[in-house]
Amino acid sequence: MSWLTFQVKTARRAQLVDITARVAEAVENAGVIDGTCHVFVPHTTAGVTINEGADPDVAADIESHLRELVPKEAAFEHAEGNSDAHIKTVLVGPSCMAPVRGGKLALGTWQAIFLCEWDGPRTRQVEVAVSAV
Ligand code: ZN
Repeated sequence: MSWLTFQVKTARRAQLVDITARVAEAVENAGVIDGTCHVFVPHTTAGVTINEGADPDVAADIESHLRELVPKEAAFEHAEGNSDAHIKTVLVGPSCMAPVRGGKLALGTWQAIFLCEWDGPRTRQVEVAVSAV
């Protein structure tokens, strides 16, 4: 098992940040030929997901449609004023898994790994664990 942690600075309140290159680098440095790569973010208002990275409009659509689905200004109990960000984080989840084949991250052709910021801008932590199978 190999662990690596890196930080991501986000620039907007809601932003999908493509972190594929940094995860792929962690996988290549792990020395695991065949296995799995788990990506985890230790946050309650940011998550991680795998989706299309080829066309940046997809990430923009996810940002804008989740903003419509869970508006910031709504009737929430949580006094911090960021319940929408907590709910969007529930929707994308705090982790994802991808296969490692031949020592490399084996995503689908159109896939990328995104840190999903919902309460930025902030500095977020990403943890990558690579294990052999
Ligand atoms: Zn909160």
